[in-house]
Amino acid sequence: MMFDDLSDLYQQVILDHCKHPRNFHELPTATCSAQGRNPLCGDQLKLFLALDGEVIKDISFLGSGCCISKASASLLTDSVKGKTKAEVLSLFEQVHEMVTSGEVKGDVGKLAVFAGVHKFPARVKCAILAWHALKSALSGAGEPVSTETEEM
Ligand code: ZN
Repeated sequence: MMFDDLSDLYQQVILDHCKHPRNFHELPTATCSAQGRNPLCGDQLKLFLALDGEVIKDISFLGSGCCISKASASLLTDSVKGKTKAEVLSLFEQVHEMVTSGEVKGDVGKLAVFAGVHKFPARVKCAILAWHALKSALSGAGEPVSTETEEM
């Protein structure tokens, strides 16, 4: 089992979101979207966002990939709904720091389950994929993102 170092609780949350992803559908009201791809693992996903000014009114995703990438996207949609762009960008920084260093700074809520991912470098890109797609969607670029281009 690859998650020997993660606590049972964290494993359960991740497995639950992997098997039963939240907000897993297209979004008819979407005002923007972005795709993410992690070629190393084969993860692919597409985020749909319905923005109302600066606020994310609704968000959903579709895609396929490993458990970590799906659970991360699922928890992301739960976590950012109702937040402003600025709040989401600062959350992105917190999550990025957490999955690369294992340090949890500030209140990241349930996203803390991914802190253990930093011990598995190959999985960091799986965990951060949806966040890069989100950032791309919010920046207005909507360009497909690939974790290949990120320096970790
Ligand atoms: Zn993956």
